[in-house]
Amino acid sequence: MSADLAMFGGKPAVRPEYRRLEWPVVTQSDRDAVLSVLDSRKFTVGAKNETEIHGLESEWAAFCDTRYAVSVNSGTVALELALTALGLQPGDEVIVPALSYVATAMAPLFQLAIPVFVDIDPVTFNIDVTKIEAKVTNRTRAIVPVHLGGLPADMDEIRALAKKYDLFVVEDAVQAQGGKYRGETCGSIGDVGVFSLNVEKSIPTCGEGGLVVTDREDVAERVRSLRILGEDLSTEERLYVSATRGSNLKLSSVLAAFTRAQLARFWDYQEKRDANTPVFVDRLAKLPGIVVPTVPDDRTHMWHMLRFRFVPEAAGLDGVTPGRFRAALRRALLAEGVPLTHYQIIPLPGQPVFQEQNAYGNGFPWSLPGANPQRYDLADYPVTCQVIEDSLCLRRMHLNPGAGPALDEYATAFERVWEHLDRLGRFARAMPYEPPWHAVKNGARLPDEAAA
Ligand SMILES: *Cc1c(COP(=O)(O)O)cnc(C)c1O
Repeated sequence: MSADLAMFGGKPAVRPEYRRLEWPVVTQSDRDAVLSVLDSRKFTVGAKNETEIHGLESEWAAFCDTRYAVSVNSGTVALELALTALGLQPGDEVIVPALSYVATAMAPLFQLAIPVFVDIDPVTFNIDVTKIEAKVTNRTRAIVPVHLGGLPADMDEIRALAKKYDLFVVEDAVQAQGGKYRGETCGSIGDVGVFSLNVEKSIPTCGEGGLVVTDREDVAERVRSLRILGEDLSTEERLYVSATRGSNLKLSSVLAAFTRAQLARFWDYQEKRDANTPVFVDRLAKLPGIVVPTVPDDRTHMWHMLRFRFVPEAAGLDGVTPGRFRAALRRALLAEGVPLTHYQIIPLPGQPVFQEQNAYGNGFPWSLPGANPQRYDLADYPVTCQVIEDSLCLRRMHLNPGAGPALDEYATAFERVWEHLDRLGRFARAMPYEPPWHAVKNGARLPDEAAA
């Protein structure tokens, strides 16, 4: 029997400096890129002979195999403008998965459109394509699949449904930059794809940013206009004439320059991550009761996030519920120094903003004339609830090009915990337990974090 678990007073398996890894990796080429913008004095997309934003947009379009890429100031804005540029109207419905970052479901509200949620697949954690059709109504206009964690969604099935019902497909490709699905590049598969340059993503900027990619010239042009107050951009000289409603949502040159330097190193980093991440995943796969991420043969995994599900019976723990097993494991592994997180403590439809159905006052957009009534009942998303209860995630910052030695210690920590499962099982049976989403009502405190 190895050393006692850290949660019971033993020495943690993971050294302190591996408890939180640094991302982005900032090198001299990033510094040079930023400083060159300061020296050029071309700070915005409107500056005469500006090169960084235009350069990033053409490099990003090439990277995604699309004709156009238009930069904006966040991934959330990229989603909002993509849906707007496709012509969504107030009261239209947008199908989104029940598990994602909240931005996916929030974006339709920008256009007073209404999110409609679909449960997830228990293996890929992406939208369950067998459950989409039942949610299509007379008001459905778009499907927004998310390539969650870096694994592409089932795009062929989604495209077939979109064709059948005349819907747009907007890929939330934020977590799958460079990913491939049956030979196609993530972001280029639907009508429009969106990306984020937030510091936590795989090709970051030194702040916030986003991109919309598409082969449709009209959509690219509309996004370009929407990001600058709906201006008519067809004139050679800027005349400050607004054709439509818009806002100021532009990326700035310093941020674009930083991202170009990161983009140039992306495949080098990805190669290292493609080497060190599977080694870690394979070690965990040997432990009974851990379900590791699956990578179907027809697509790549870009390792934005690893989600592990825990099955108490398979680990030999009878009478311990999956939620309790996960909660006890979180206590034990955090104590060992493995930086595991929940990624979402609640299915998206359970977020208070959707439960309230009142984004703009007076119940808008749900109260719009002709809008279909929505019931955002967690009971309709059983797989999302199960997955949130029985799984934990390792996020992007810990899946770095140089993370190999840290991942090695994380795996050792899991193995140590597995040697003490009997004691952990007793702990799990006795601990107070509520599902993670109860924290939404209880204040910020996660129930399983309460002292046992
Ligand atoms: C981060 C993220 C977004 C939003 O991007 P921001 O740049 O943070 O606004 C949207 N969707 C997914 C899946 C994300 O992970």
